[in-house]
Amino acid sequence: MKRSYVIKPELEKIYPVISHGKGIYLFDQEGKRYIDGCSGAVTVSIGHAVDEVVEAMYAQAKEVSFAYRSHFSSEAVEELGAKLAEWAPGSLNWTFFVSSGSEATETAQKIAIQYWQERGKPTKNRIISRWMSYHGITMGALSMSGHVLRRKRFVPLLEDYPTISAPYPYRKPDGVSLEDYALQCANELETAILRVGPEQVAAFIAEPVIGASGGAVVPPDGYFQRIREICDKYEVLFIADEVMTGIGRTGKAFGIDHWGVVPDMITLGKGMSSGYTPMAATVVSDEIIETIKNGSGLIMAGHTYSANPQSAAVSLAVLKYVEKHSLFEKAAEQGAYLLERLQELAAELPLIGDARGLGMLCGLEFVKDKDTKEPFPLSHNVSGRVIAKAFEKGLLVYPAVGGLEGIAGDSVIIAPPLTITKAEIDELIGLLKGAVESVQ
Ligand code: PLP
Repeated sequence: MKRSYVIKPELEKIYPVISHGKGIYLFDQEGKRYIDGCSGAVTVSIGHAVDEVVEAMYAQAKEVSFAYRSHFSSEAVEELGAKLAEWAPGSLNWTFFVSSGSEATETAQKIAIQYWQERGKPTKNRIISRWMSYHGITMGALSMSGHVLRRKRFVPLLEDYPTISAPYPYRKPDGVSLEDYALQCANELETAILRVGPEQVAAFIAEPVIGASGGAVVPPDGYFQRIREICDKYEVLFIADEVMTGIGRTGKAFGIDHWGVVPDMITLGKGMSSGYTPMAATVVSDEIIETIKNGSGLIMAGHTYSANPQSAAVSLAVLKYVEKHSLFEKAAEQGAYLLERLQELAAELPLIGDARGLGMLCGLEFVKDKDTKEPFPLSHNVSGRVIAKAFEKGLLVYPAVGGLEGIAGDSVIIAPPLTITKAEIDELIGLLKGAVESVQ
């Protein structure tokens, strides 16, 4: 192997070199095959090397790949915006395109603050988020994130935003019904708003299903309905961070659709382009856009690659593929089978305390003691070792450790492409079982 000049996640490690992919499989240059059990970073939702996307990519590139958003719109981006407006709930009809999930959440943060300025309430500029959360790696997005491991080196640079608990049904206090627990957790938002002062709070941000900092933690019914009520009561915008959950991952267009709640903004990324090109978005309500249109008339955000025709054409092809192959329904159906198989594993293997998920976004939480649910100390790195063993065996699994030592567990995410078949799920489960069994 030639000397590498590329900065990789682990600087000392030698990474296999990818050769190609097809469907749920990836192949390295040594000819080893991997099941993409986590769609990369929960991204490749329609699988690898889909012809329709490659053709759309080529067709757009032959015409024009880049035209700056301050100069031109494009057919691809207009059609993509219309498709998202059709899919999004309520009056979420407007899309601001960016290139990564972090840019999408940070754009939502900026739009929320600007919206209140344009309404003559400039002190409404704080964003409330949750301890167990991940909204991105840039400073604004990280300020809103509870992911301790990703925050800790940069804390002096981050905004000290108020934070509340997220419902975590596996670790719910004994003797409290799920229904009451949902309300208790949601009511923490009201307490936080009152403590800070509603005149200071611009927005609340939450992932409908917690991803990287929890491992597919699904809230109880009633939680998001109550969150919406509280946001309305105190004039606080609700941002649903759907970077991981959006575009069918949980079995509906958006994760929040499971609870019939309409946010004021939805952020998207990952599955929006299924990883074929960088693409992400902030979807915004009529009310917010009308206010800004009638005020300054200009949204103060944006990046060089925002709304570039190449990524728009790719994303459009991905969304059309999702529609044509009924992938929302497939994610719901095959995801239920995946969860059933993961729950069988959890019943059998002492290391797995919980198997959970929604649609094709599932998680396993590893515990020291299944009866008491005592978590492993993070220094044990159980999820890291399971991931390494799975990799050796040819299965990719995603880490979900937020670093809230002793509070949130040590978890992994299993989230294969939405196109996975039952037979392929069985193959995935076989490899996963071997990996978990080989970790003590
Ligand atoms: N929001 C959520 C819910 C995510 O899961 C992620 C990435 O994992 C992000 C935001 C940040 O996205 P990106 O890594 O594309 O910047």
